[in-house]
Amino acid sequence: MKKYALVLFFPALGLLALPARGHDPHEHGVARLNAALEGRRLSLELDGPLANLLSFEHAPRTEAQRNEVRGMAAKLRNAETLFVPSRAASCRLESVALASGNLPGSLLDPAAPDASGQPGHAEAHGEKEDAAEHGELDAAFVFLCDKPEALTQIEVRLFGAFPALREIEAQIAVPGKQGAAELTPASRMLKW
Ligand SMILES: [Zn+2]
Repeated sequence: MKKYALVLFFPALGLLALPARGHDPHEHGVARLNAALEGRRLSLELDGPLANLLSFEHAPRTEAQRNEVRGMAAKLRNAETLFVPSRAASCRLESVALASGNLPGSLLDPAAPDASGQPGHAEAHGEKEDAAEHGELDAAFVFLCDKPEALTQIEVRLFGAFPALREIEAQIAVPGKQGAAELTPASRMLKW
């Protein structure tokens, strides 16, 4: 039952991203980051306008645009260079999942088996949302930490990789603590 619900929910993420957020849903340059530590598992969820990451937000129309999407996905999949948790916590990247209503899943994850049906679904969305010319990306990163008790900060290096990004509204939930922070190129340490 639980598995079934997840399968239904996932393809809808791109569509839900706009109405599901309570605040300022689509401001270019601004992204949201939710960081949560549960046991050894550090989950980082990043979402925001595609304009933070690409020079366009519509479904790619040319090979150059498809290559730009591939390049963005490759940078995000190389997440150890974008998020640097406290070294003493010995965290390593476990998984990266990227989803967008405007971008074909096959460009976001070349390794994914197309048999899942999701890439086709994403492309159908892309055509539908194309008229709006706005799109978002949801990215989920999971790190596993050998010493989660030593995790006290994460250096967020997204600004260097994606210059159009200028602000990240971050929320943190670790055992016993919750907080919020605003990250900028000048202040990129998420601490708690
Ligand atoms: Zn936009």
